[in-house]
Amino acid sequence: MPLELLKYGLRRGHKPFHDIPPTPDLRRSYDVVIIGGGGHGLAAAYYLSRYHGITNVAVLEKGYLAGGNTARNTTTVRSNYLTIPSIEFYREGVSLFENMSHELGFNVMFSQRGQLTLAHSDGAMRSFRLRAEMGKHAGTRIEVVDARGVQKICPHVNMDFGGQHEVLGGLWHADGGTARHDAVAWGYAKRAAENGVQIHQRTEVTGFGVSGDRVTEVRTNRGTIQAGQVLQAAGGMNGRIAEMAGIRLPIRCFPLQAMVTQPLKPFLDILLSSSDLHTYLVQSSRGEIVIGGGTDPYQLASTRSTLPQKEALATGALQLMPFLHNVKLLRQWAGITDITPDFSPIMGASPLQNYWLDAGWGTWGFKATGVAGKRMAETVATARVPDILRPFALDRFSRFELLNEMGATAAGH
Ligand SMILES: Cc1cc2nc3c(=O)[nH]c(=O)nc-3n(C[C@H](O)[C@H](O)[C@H](O)COP(=O)(O)OP(=O)(O)OC[C@H]3O[C@@H](n4cnc5c(N)ncnc54)[C@H](O)[C@@H]3O)c2cc1C
Repeated sequence: MPLELLKYGLRRGHKPFHDIPPTPDLRRSYDVVIIGGGGHGLAAAYYLSRYHGITNVAVLEKGYLAGGNTARNTTTVRSNYLTIPSIEFYREGVSLFENMSHELGFNVMFSQRGQLTLAHSDGAMRSFRLRAEMGKHAGTRIEVVDARGVQKICPHVNMDFGGQHEVLGGLWHADGGTARHDAVAWGYAKRAAENGVQIHQRTEVTGFGVSGDRVTEVRTNRGTIQAGQVLQAAGGMNGRIAEMAGIRLPIRCFPLQAMVTQPLKPFLDILLSSSDLHTYLVQSSRGEIVIGGGTDPYQLASTRSTLPQKEALATGALQLMPFLHNVKLLRQWAGITDITPDFSPIMGASPLQNYWLDAGWGTWGFKATGVAGKRMAETVATARVPDILRPFALDRFSRFELLNEMGATAAGH
């Protein structure tokens, strides 16, 4: 093998290797136009082309693939939500991650190491008991553990914080895990492109032509195209894009920040979070400790990172693991998250007949990359919203049938 590698290295005239072909010219029309080359848009393109035989598909991405929230997120994958529709949906998401590397023939480095959320108050313990019962009922691996159980699962946790935030117990979710975010996006992109999907980077959607209750054309900075169906999966820009199509979504944008430390030897083999401290920690495959928390407390459509948030995250991390105090921070960044009033996504139909929504993914949409892509592809291909997506319909807000997941999304992502 090394000899083969040497021979390959010395050979002249290597053909450049592309995971996906360079951006082609735009066709005049497509059966399906997908707005957004993040994980969700790319996954939908893959499932459309692989399982529904729809290959005349364009993915339009204004920047580069996964450059939105997909490659900014902290990669928590889990299904320990509160309501049954959410748990069932995210459970399907986790099961797709379990087989994703095989499905795509692309290593997405899924590591199902379990997630532990700490409780620092009786109120938190009570809500964990409820979430555990709901989760068990819907078939996830989830249980409440006491303080001794926390220490057993993660001996590195500082249990008393000098009496300030004593750890009373936790919610252990054995199905929780993490995957390499850009690999997920590139895996879906590569296989979709092989199936004939066109991926257009640096192609920004700037408006729509609408006739009656249908979108007829999609305008971009590279020209106008006709579209049979349109699927919107534009991350932090979802509210704005929908507005261009004349649709008002109940979405507000908040920055969400994260940061990583220098690489350390592996010591943290679970995902650890504390919603009371608004902090969570994960050790990446490179050894860096990824530290994340809640959104900034103001609305903004910007990816600026700030000193106050860095201080808040560092404070939380040091309360959980004071021995990290000498560790250096390498990078800090932010993404624009599209938050709905009930902290659940909006999937399915829109007021326009051929315009479909995959929006409102806020701080929690990475784990749903596969399942949202698969189920939205099914929706677009059959023009029928599958049962599993129905509770997430846009009109739930006017029906007052909200799916409140505020507690389950808080700082656990
Ligand atoms: C710091 C941070 C941490 C997070 N941590 C987690 C986590 O641990 N677990 C979890 O499940 N989720 C997490 N999330 C949320 C998660 O990242 C998102 O919900 C998810 O990535 C959404 O994927 P997407 O494909 O819908 O959107 P994106 O990845 O944002 O993709 C949308 C794409 O649309 C493109 N676009 C926008 N406007 C246009 C236009 N006019 N024309 C063409 N293209 C356009 C954008 O450039 C972008 O690439 C986190 C988010 C952040 C910011």
